[in-house]
Formats: sequence, structure tokens, C-alpha cells
Amino acid sequence: MRTRGYRIHTWGGPMLWEEWETPEPGAGEALVRVEACGVGLTVLNCMRGDLSDTAPLPRAPGHELVGRVLAVGEGVSPDLVGKRVVGYFYLTCGVCGPCRSGRDSRCANMAGWLGVHRDGGYGAHTVIPAANALPIPESIEPTLATAIPDAIATPLHVCKTRLELTPLDRVVVIGAGGGVGIHMVQMARLFGASVCGLEIDEAKFPAIRDAGAEPTLSRQWDDARLPSAWRGEPATAVIDLIGSRESLGWSMGALGMGGSLAVLTTFRDRSFPLAPREMVFRELRIVGSRYASKAEVLEAARLVADGRIKPVVSMVVPPEEIERAHEALRGNTLLGRGAVRWPAGAG
Ligand SMILES: [Zn+2]
Repeated sequence: MRTRGYRIHTWGGPMLWEEWETPEPGAGEALVRVEACGVGLTVLNCMRGDLSDTAPLPRAPGHELVGRVLAVGEGVSPDLVGKRVVGYFYLTCGVCGPCRSGRDSRCANMAGWLGVHRDGGYGAHTVIPAANALPIPESIEPTLATAIPDAIATPLHVCKTRLELTPLDRVVVIGAGGGVGIHMVQMARLFGASVCGLEIDEAKFPAIRDAGAEPTLSRQWDDARLPSAWRGEPATAVIDLIGSRESLGWSMGALGMGGSLAVLTTFRDRSFPLAPREMVFRELRIVGSRYASKAEVLEAARLVADGRIKPVVSMVVPPEEIERAHEALRGNTLLGRGAVRWPAGAG
């Protein structure tokens, strides 16, 4: 089957609009007609070769794909055909200890990432492992559903599994107006925490308030203040989605006794100084958080279907205008996530 979309031919090179042959789904695979795909910073990082610069090319990027399964290969239940699915980002083995115990993102034998080692949602069709095609409720509109597999599932993993937030928590989200940030605010609120959202763009403040957090300007770290409603109490957790030396240093200072710093960014060569004495005296924790499990993606979809988490996808573009969404991302003017919407019958 001929399909069309964007592919890159060198890691770090430009995307080219082209047509290519989509293969038949092989054993264990599913052919998906893409309805929409998320446009976020992770996609740009993947295209630059940040996750892998040796994966085979050409490649259609875009891991936050939503689409309908058109056909399945040998060994896959035909029940999957016709279902609306979201893509699970990690290409996991399904049989190692972590996979078998439901901790998919810790897979010991990862084969790479959707949109890096397999074609993603920047093409109108893709063949992916059927185990990466997770069915979601039909009621969720496809462009909104693009936020589920990463921008909403990741906050669920952070708030529920890694930080175990409760109504006693006071949480700071750094980068609160971004694609993961705006949903992190909502998720921390869902677990009952009081939330402060740090953001450098004041235009995003109303949306941060709508998501349930007190917005605070973080253009100058010395001026970043915790909410007055906390009455001088420090944060119990800081979730840093920026990961700069300054933001990490500020975070450690903002935490109170027993506090936790959650880190989610993966820039190479980034580090910050750590004082063991401070860690001991204040019994601090630093918590790494690695994507989400498949169960958490399914749970994220349920939260959206039930209206408990509202996807914030502020820019939806047709394929020919995808570069406009990339520009908004690079300029940090995009509130929440962007998405590309494939027209019905495309390709
Ligand atoms: Zn595994």
C-alpha cells in the first residue's frame, strides 16, 4: 500500500514530504491508519538523533500516534482490527522480568522507540508491533487522544507510581505550561495535592490556573515565589521538566524536610552539584522517572474518557503546516501539546 507523509533521511536532517510503500503487517504486527499525532519537544529531540543516531533510515517520526487498526499479521487477535489505538512509545520485549511484572518502561531488552526504530505518526500509515497498539475508548476525539500515550501517561507515572502524591503534598511543577507540564498540574491536583506552576511565559498563566495550579513567573530564579496559600511551608515535591542547572539547584532549595525532586529531562552532559550533607539533614530524595507502563497509558485513557483529565492540545495543524507547530515549540509559545491531524482517507 502506498502512503505519504514526512520522513527524515539523516538524523538531525530535514523532514521531506514523500510517498512510500507501507509493508503488509508481519507476524505480531499491526497496520495502523494514523488519524492524528502529537507534536512535542520529544519528537524534535528524536529527529535530532538524541535517543539514537544509528537507527535505520529513512524514518517517519512521531511517537504519539492515534489511529485505527486496518489489518494485523500472524499471531495477532483479529479483534484488534477496527479498534482505535494509541502507540506505546517504547519497543519492549514483553518477556523480561520488568515487562512480565507490568513495569514495561524498565524493559531489559528494549528494541528502541516508536518514531525512531519504527515509523511513527508523521506518516499516514504505519506498521508497528501489535503489542504497542493500545486500544482506547471510542469516545475520545483523535487529536485530544494524542496527549494520552506520553503527555498524560507520563504525569500519571510520576504522580501515582514514583511520588505517590496525596492531599498532604505541596507540589511545584517547573515548566507548567508545556505539553507534559500542563497535564502534570492536572494530575497532581487529581491526587489531591496543592500545586504551584512555574512558567516563563505569562501568556500561559490562565491555562495553568484552569489546570488547578497557582502560576508563578520563573524568568528569574531568585524571584520565583511559592504560593502565599502555603503560608511559608516548603514544597514536599518538585517536578522539574526543564532540567537546567539553575532549575535543579532552585528545586533542592525549595524542598522541605523529606521532600522529593522528580527529574524527567534527558539532556546529555547535564549535571548539577549535590551536597550529601543537605540530603541527609533534610532526608531528601531524587527520583528519576522513566516514561510510563502500558497499564498507565490505558489508565490515562480512562481518565480522559471520564473527563477527569482534560487534554490541552492548543494547536492542531494539517500535515502541510506541521512546520508551523514545530516553530511554536521551538519558540516556547505553544500551550500544552500540538497535534497534526490526518484527513480521513489520507494516503
Ligand atoms: Zn522487556
